[in-house]
Amino acid sequence: MRVRKRKGAEEHLKNNPHYVILNPEVVKGHWHEVFGNDNPIHIEVGSGKGAFITGMALQNPDINYIGIDIQVSVLSYALDKVLDSQAPNVRLLLVDGSDLTNYFADREIDLMYLNFSDPWPKKRHEKRRLTYKTFLDTYRQILPEQGEIHFKTDNRGLFEYSLASFSQYGMILKQVWLDLHASDFEGNVMTEYEEKFSQKGQVIYRVEAQFQ
Ligand code: SAH
Repeated sequence: MRVRKRKGAEEHLKNNPHYVILNPEVVKGHWHEVFGNDNPIHIEVGSGKGAFITGMALQNPDINYIGIDIQVSVLSYALDKVLDSQAPNVRLLLVDGSDLTNYFADREIDLMYLNFSDPWPKKRHEKRRLTYKTFLDTYRQILPEQGEIHFKTDNRGLFEYSLASFSQYGMILKQVWLDLHASDFEGNVMTEYEEKFSQKGQVIYRVEAQFQ
């Protein structure tokens, strides 16, 4: 997601330590204390401007959500949405998806979402794709046995690549949607990119992949 640098974005994040966890290394293994309950914790890696994570938090008050992004300005827009929503069950994290084991203990996360991840179409950038095997190693560690990744995209190339990557990793593809919006899938919460691309007539792909 390309956004212009937002003035004051860093201060905005720092001024809201309740929602933006600024010292995630310290919180590793203690996320349930952050939320003040034992509800399951779901994360979105590459949460962008936060429509999905905020919408999910409002729709599912008994689940805790963490939106993760590496861009300060982008995360600051997500913070606006979180503040507007007043959802008590959502937090934000400014970290890289490749480092998640520094911030989450083994099996601390119950489910993870990837939505409209950067496609990195060039073969030489394969290792940057969030569904590349080294990322899957990281995700597997913080998820439970048979933990799941739920992935949506409009990008056919990245979708094909990811199905193969999940499958080569030994994951089960529990369910695949080749046109999510034409399906009977219930409770879909749209992301910013999903709104934008589906308005342009792009189909939305979705997969639920499970570690074995
Ligand atoms: N999920 C949102 C945004 C998709 S754009 C939506 O669907 O609208 C992809 C996002 O992933 C960008 O905001 C980018 O900053 C973030 N991102 C890319 N690589 C990342 C990484 N390694 N770790 C965390 N976030 C990443």
